[in-house]
Amino acid sequence: MIPLSSLRKGIGLRLLALIILFSSAVTLISTAIQLYFDYRQDVSAIEQRLDEIEESYLASIAAGLWNVDITQLKLQLEGILRLPDMKAAIVQEDGLAVSEPISVSFGQKSENAALSRVFTITYREGDVVRDIGSLYVEASFTGVYNRLFNKAIVILLTQGVKTFLVSMFILYIFNWLVTQHLSTIANYVRSYNFNSALPTLSLNRRKPHKDDELDAMVRAYNAMCQNLLKAYDELKDVNAKLEDDIAAQREYEERLLYQAHYDLLTGLANRVLMFDRLDHAISTAQRNQCYTALLCIDLDQFKNVNDTMGHGVGDQLLVQAAQRLTACVRECDTLARIGGDEFVIILPEISEKSLALQVAERIINAFTENFHIADQDHFVTASVGISLYPLDGKDHQILLRNADLAMYKAKEAGRNCFHFFTEEINQALSKRLELERELRGAVEHGELVLHYQPVFDLKSGIPIALEALIRWQQPNGSLRAPDQFIPIAEDMGLLQEIGDWVLERACAEIAALNKSLDYQLRVAINVSPKQLQEAGFGDSVKRHLDLSGLCTDNLELEITERVLMDDSPETDTNLKKINDMGIRLSIDDFGTGYSSLGYLQKYIFHTLKIDRSFVGAAIIDTNTRKLVETIITMAHGLGLEVIAEGVENLEQAQLLKQKNCNMVQGFYYARPAPITEISRYFASLPNIARAPLG
Ligand code: C2E
Ligand code: MG
Ligand code: MG
Repeated sequence: MIPLSSLRKGIGLRLLALIILFSSAVTLISTAIQLYFDYRQDVSAIEQRLDEIEESYLASIAAGLWNVDITQLKLQLEGILRLPDMKAAIVQEDGLAVSEPISVSFGQKSENAALSRVFTITYREGDVVRDIGSLYVEASFTGVYNRLFNKAIVILLTQGVKTFLVSMFILYIFNWLVTQHLSTIANYVRSYNFNSALPTLSLNRRKPHKDDELDAMVRAYNAMCQNLLKAYDELKDVNAKLEDDIAAQREYEERLLYQAHYDLLTGLANRVLMFDRLDHAISTAQRNQCYTALLCIDLDQFKNVNDTMGHGVGDQLLVQAAQRLTACVRECDTLARIGGDEFVIILPEISEKSLALQVAERIINAFTENFHIADQDHFVTASVGISLYPLDGKDHQILLRNADLAMYKAKEAGRNCFHFFTEEINQALSKRLELERELRGAVEHGELVLHYQPVFDLKSGIPIALEALIRWQQPNGSLRAPDQFIPIAEDMGLLQEIGDWVLERACAEIAALNKSLDYQLRVAINVSPKQLQEAGFGDSVKRHLDLSGLCTDNLELEITERVLMDDSPETDTNLKKINDMGIRLSIDDFGTGYSSLGYLQKYIFHTLKIDRSFVGAAIIDTNTRKLVETIITMAHGLGLEVIAEGVENLEQAQLLKQKNCNMVQGFYYARPAPITEISRYFASLPNIARAPLG
């Protein structure tokens, strides 16, 4: 049985409403048409009746009027009124002069009669026909309307009941045939679950029956479910793979994220995360009107451990150092490793400077104990530099730079201590920045010049070489010594450019000098470690030699022992190339560096220059004198010529001569001078003999 409720909603109700609406409209229109025709029929029946009155009643009425038979007249008029729909009948005699005209009436005459007729009453006497009066008859439509109304009620009632019953029947059938099955399908679809698939969809229908649209739909639906299930299974497999991929990707990304923010060796924050935390600490301090301290920590002597014990031990030491540093800070502080042995601590939201000082003291104390690694004790201390927000900088770059500068100040102060960033450091920095700016301008504006200092053969007194020494000519005419700007140029990365300029200029000027004097002077050019680390340095030396036309034998490159401590492959390649080209090499400032002397086996040197500090001290100190003597003997033993630098007086010159030194250079003989003066000096020398070279 179909539930009644299902008929009251959904398509059924709409169907019912539409059927009723449509059939009501049809009923109304057909009823109206029918009533119209009935009306026309009734009206013509009334008109026909009026025509009949003329035929049936007019003769009797004429006789009654002629005879003044009122009774007869009334009888006739009564008869007329009994006819259907007649409302009034009035006989009116035509006026005669002798008496009052007769008037007999039945019924009530209306003002605006719907249908009325006036007949002339005639009387025939022989051949004479006389008009003796008139008959007025009026019909009423009330009866017609009542009949039509009743008829309409009956039609509407019967049609309404019929429509309702037929609609209900159609609805029931529609529900039985279609709607209930649609609901079954809807319920099936609603409860469909891919994980516990239902049996195939089937409808509760009379069997057998002819295949129809519902069967086609059920079949199509079941086929679709099968395909969906298959697709779902495939999707499940793909999804499982995808989830695995996503999990692997996520793990990879998390690893990358970790690597991007943490130092893998110590597990501490790295530079990126440190800057992030510092920015955060700065904004918090700004909001809460307090300080943020930044501590830059560098391990002293760490390089020694790394160099002597290897990187494995170095790494273990860094891990232990990180643990000691972690113990010095609060949970809310950030400890980061931002370089090899460089650590940074951020102390956010501190109310006073002394708190940073306490942490710095704790750090220094934490390094008083030895590090025990690989069964050995290693003593490594820490130098700490401190900068404070907002006093020492407003952004992370400045704060870090200032903490770093303060840390270098602590190193200068003897290491194993801490130093706050101060105004003094700030001024030194400003000075240095100013100098850097000027130096960049100096290179661009060609303010660099070369001076040359002659080197003399000690026995003959003949000048045989010139050392090229750079100067910075200030716009006010004063000269700046190389010690004041060469290290800065080195830091700024300008030294390659400057060195190249020196090589070009010195080769060109000395080649020109030799040509003009027909002489064979040698030029000694100082080369910095940075220049030798540059790939292709050897090639650029060759290029300048070729361009200037200077003879290879007339070029000597001076390098310090510091260069030889650098075991980079580029330095090695460049030195070998210089040796291969046959260019002379000399060891400058001998005795001031790490004199391991092993390099003497590796490369070919021609000259050894004793540093001027030994030359000066040799006069007053016996040990130094002995040292100078030993150096000269050793150099000669190795086939090297010896130049003594910084000879300032006769006494020094005589001592060096006595000790068999080959050459001298110093203010006693000649001061460094510009090429014009040097040219004049050489041109003025009498009997310049060609100096015996080599
Ligand atoms: P250096 O190569 O040892 O040069 C010798 C330095 O001793 C020169 O100082 C010279 O003026 C100075 N000198 C010479 N005789 C005497 C003396 O009798 N008494 C005293 N007190 N000093 C004397 P300068 O020119 O100031 O150069 C200093 C250093 O700057 C040089 O030491 C060299 O290492 C470096 N330097 C100079 N020019 C260049 C250059 O073009 N390139 C590079 N990389 N370094 C250069
Ligand atoms: Mg030199
Ligand atoms: Mg020197």
